Amino acid sequence: MRRLNRLRKGKATRDLIAQARIGPDNLVMPCFVREGRKVREPVEAMPGVFRFSQDELLKEIEQLKRSGVSSVILFGLPGEKDDAGRQAYSENGVIQKVVRALKKNFGDELAVITDVCLCGYTKHGHCGVIKKSHKVTKSQGHQIKIDNNKTINILAKIALSHARAGADIVAPSAMMDGQVAAIREGLDKNGFGDTAIMGYSAKFASNFYGPFREAAGSGMKFGDRKSYQMDFRNSDEALREIEADIQEGADIVMVKPALAYLDIIARAKEKFSVPLAAFNVSGEYAMVRTYLKMSPSHQVTGNGKTVGFGDFDCHKKSRSGYYYNLLG
Ligand SMILES: [Zn+2]
Repeated sequence: MRRLNRLRKGKATRDLIAQARIGPDNLVMPCFVREGRKVREPVEAMPGVFRFSQDELLKEIEQLKRSGVSSVILFGLPGEKDDAGRQAYSENGVIQKVVRALKKNFGDELAVITDVCLCGYTKHGHCGVIKKSHKVTKSQGHQIKIDNNKTINILAKIALSHARAGADIVAPSAMMDGQVAAIREGLDKNGFGDTAIMGYSAKFASNFYGPFREAAGSGMKFGDRKSYQMDFRNSDEALREIEADIQEGADIVMVKPALAYLDIIARAKEKFSVPLAAFNVSGEYAMVRTYLKMSPSHQVTGNGKTVGFGDFDCHKKSRSGYYYNLLG
């Protein structure tokens, strides 16, 4: 009989041979930022998550750093929206202001990542500029047509404005073809050759994003995102997306959502050697919170950590190197 459980009998022995190790420095905290002062607005769909004004966010990040997490990704809620998302690249936009403040306060002690997309800044809530020819039929509803090339030029402008404000890493999430190349070119041409790009490379169309859209105010007014986000039935295509991002100059690639796509993470790590982020999205966070509510014994014994970290360890086993903290 092979006695594999010999190495499981004590905690110290289990820790000694553990392959998947997760610490706070593997995590990135998503932060929702809005205009105003002294705002700390709870997000109903995600208990424990808030929208912060800049002053409150600075306090929150002080605390976050004490817990050992030193990376954040910022999502902005602009004061006003239009159909082309102009506030997304305004020098005095909500994100540009907060990036300047964070870098002034924390310098290199905090890695500041910015989400680069249009959905939070457009009235229609889509991730790009919609073509006038987009159709509405009785049988299929809105068939969204995005102007890909127009959109990637705007994304490059947004990324450049974030880099100018001091962002360490810009993270395009719009799932437009050529977005990484357009951003890389825009950054390099303007002297920001050392600003890194994290591509949301394999971002699947998913209902797991629902709570996030409430948090970021980025829900669509009509239609869906299936004409640009990935079809959840495909896996080979995810590898092609990741490969394209790497060729275009992505420094980090991502699979999103995480838990339902561990197969993609494992395949991507097998094939590529660039750092890989797994975005544990808002619906996954909400599932853990709901489970904890229904299972009080876990709350008492593990304070949520047992479930949460089991979940993260799965990602680590599937060998992604970076993490997003629970939501998105
Ligand atoms: Zn978007």
